Amino acid sequence: MTVRALFLDRDGVVNVDHGYVHRPEQVDFVPGIFELVAAARARQWAVVVVTNQSGIGRGYYDEPAFRHLSEWMRGRFAENEGRIDAVYHCPHHPRDALPEYRKDCTDRKPAPGMLLRARDDLGLDLAGSVLIGDRPSDLEAARRAGVGTRLLFDPEGTESLPDEPGVARIRTLPEAIAWLD
Ligand SMILES: [Mg+2]
Ligand SMILES: [Zn+2]
Repeated sequence: MTVRALFLDRDGVVNVDHGYVHRPEQVDFVPGIFELVAAARARQWAVVVVTNQSGIGRGYYDEPAFRHLSEWMRGRFAENEGRIDAVYHCPHHPRDALPEYRKDCTDRKPAPGMLLRARDDLGLDLAGSVLIGDRPSDLEAARRAGVGTRLLFDPEGTESLPDEPGVARIRTLPEAIAWLD
């Protein structure tokens, strides 16, 4: 028995992307995110955050700060009929990072490593799963992992969309609930 997942990019999908957000007081949740996560939980889908965090590699904040923010976010979802089942992050960057974080990591989107690890850890059916990202690199990671539905969150409707099956644009987060069936 496998589980379907709603994969969420973090910056720009869960929280407004103010750039290297790393403290709770910097977080503005994107409108509709609590409704969406609650809908996924009601359908017994796993909810998994997959986020590039090169701010760690660049030395702007550290792993404990990232973990603290992640736990704080999980608490906010738990208070709103939701649940984040897992958070995967990649602290690396191929060039602009401190030496110990400088590498071409197979987790960093558009590479699919985080999604494949989540599949193995949680027993996920990726073909039946949905990813929401605000950048083409999010959708590319999902395509390479075999995630069946890849939604570009594009409130302005200005991004170009890859012409592939399984790809769609959403202008608001609750629009994604229609794909969770
Ligand atoms: Mg993003
Ligand atoms: Zn990495």
